[in-house]
Amino acid sequence: MTDFTALSLSEQLAALNDGLITSVALTQAYLDNIQRLNPTLNSYITVTQEDALIQAAAADNDRIHGRIAPLLGLPLGIKDVLSTKGIETTCASNILRGYVPVFDATAVARLKAAGALILGKLNMDEFAMGSSNENSAFGLCRNPWDIDRVPGGSSGGSGVAVAAGLCAGALGTDTGGSVRLPASYCGITAMKPSYGRVSRWGLIAYGSSLDSIGTMGRTVEDTARLLQVIAGHDPKDSTSMPLDVPNYLEALEGGVKGLKIGVPEEYFGEGIAAETAHAVRTAIAALEQQGATVHPVKMPMTEYCLPAYYLIATSEASSNLARYDGIRFGNLQDQGEMWDTYRVTRGEGFGDEVKLRIMLGTYALSAGYYDAYYGKAQAVRTLIKRDFDNAFEQVDVLITPVAPDVAFKIGENISDPLQMYLADVLSVSANLAGVAALALPCGFSSSGLPIGMQIFSKAFNESAAFRVGAAYQAITDWHTQRPTVLL
Ligand code: GLN
Repeated sequence: MTDFTALSLSEQLAALNDGLITSVALTQAYLDNIQRLNPTLNSYITVTQEDALIQAAAADNDRIHGRIAPLLGLPLGIKDVLSTKGIETTCASNILRGYVPVFDATAVARLKAAGALILGKLNMDEFAMGSSNENSAFGLCRNPWDIDRVPGGSSGGSGVAVAAGLCAGALGTDTGGSVRLPASYCGITAMKPSYGRVSRWGLIAYGSSLDSIGTMGRTVEDTARLLQVIAGHDPKDSTSMPLDVPNYLEALEGGVKGLKIGVPEEYFGEGIAAETAHAVRTAIAALEQQGATVHPVKMPMTEYCLPAYYLIATSEASSNLARYDGIRFGNLQDQGEMWDTYRVTRGEGFGDEVKLRIMLGTYALSAGYYDAYYGKAQAVRTLIKRDFDNAFEQVDVLITPVAPDVAFKIGENISDPLQMYLADVLSVSANLAGVAALALPCGFSSSGLPIGMQIFSKAFNESAAFRVGAAYQAITDWHTQRPTVLL
């Protein structure tokens, strides 16, 4: 019997439309996989089994009556940073335990309106701060290619769930690489759209000028289908752009003939594993064979991306996280006296990494240091953006590795924040500049772990990255490989 959960989201949609499987059967197959694998992988924080089956039955009924929607009957997973009506939303933090939103984030509402159903909420680093999913109050999450390794973060649960067949596709969020890093470490595909392409309404904020909601799936086509549904202006988020959303599925057909690919050498330098650089260069050569032209480009500000990011992200986080006092939502630890209540609620509610970042950000924003740290980081951000503007005057897309190396061992970087932050050294630039970035598998290391490449395209031109990514997946089969550890 066909295992439909082993197929891509797009193939599952076709199978549903052709009557080869019902949404109830597909949903049940995912729930069975979750029951079997989640105790080891820990990718779901909450599983909404009953509601998923009810929604699946409703989708089957709609299909019988000819009411077709773009994602009708597809079971998806949602990172636990996105508000979901009636479903506990924790941000993987003790401080939000028990918080049940009374509304859906716009992205979630749009998925539901397109007929998708929700299997549950996915594990992550607390408040999306991390690169390994080890900073979760709900326990770490394991990489299905090697369960002693991290899945990447912060959308680790989303990466694992897609890779291990625990959902058809997932939403994650990306402030500095959080959909791309898990995609790279878990061998799946993820799109971080341009800032302003997807409404952030209902997304629990980390760094508001950097946060984007991204789509995760097995293939470029899967991520395009999901983005098609969630993209577009939303009056509830004034930073969402009132622009038309192009037809991304059409973009997938474009091919790369005549397309200009830029290769910034700064992304292939010191600290990048030889196998990673080799796999990405081989992928670029394959695209050149298909008719693209390859051009070296200079991005001299690259070395300043990581420090600028960690100043801006922590500054914004310290301000965003000031609202968690346990009084309006979340886990109140009432001590009678107000300051004691704040101290205990926040002291017990936040994990160590979150506290570290609140302190860093508060320091960077404080009187006397503001210009030296936050102000300077903002000035550098403008220069980083200029690097991208210059590059996109010469080429259509840029191709680089996603991360310096493959997934690292659980516990390897946890006591050394700087080492952990280095995993983001190639991904934070896209958020600082607001451009789109697609991550997709392009090979395996000698240790059998997936390697990812990253395709940057201009702000609001996700189509160019989709086009190149789809052309690459048409001639390679890395994206069809499945982890064998548990399957
Ligand atoms: N790892 C980066 C950080 O910890 C990025 C996280 C993210 O994109 N949410 O800030």
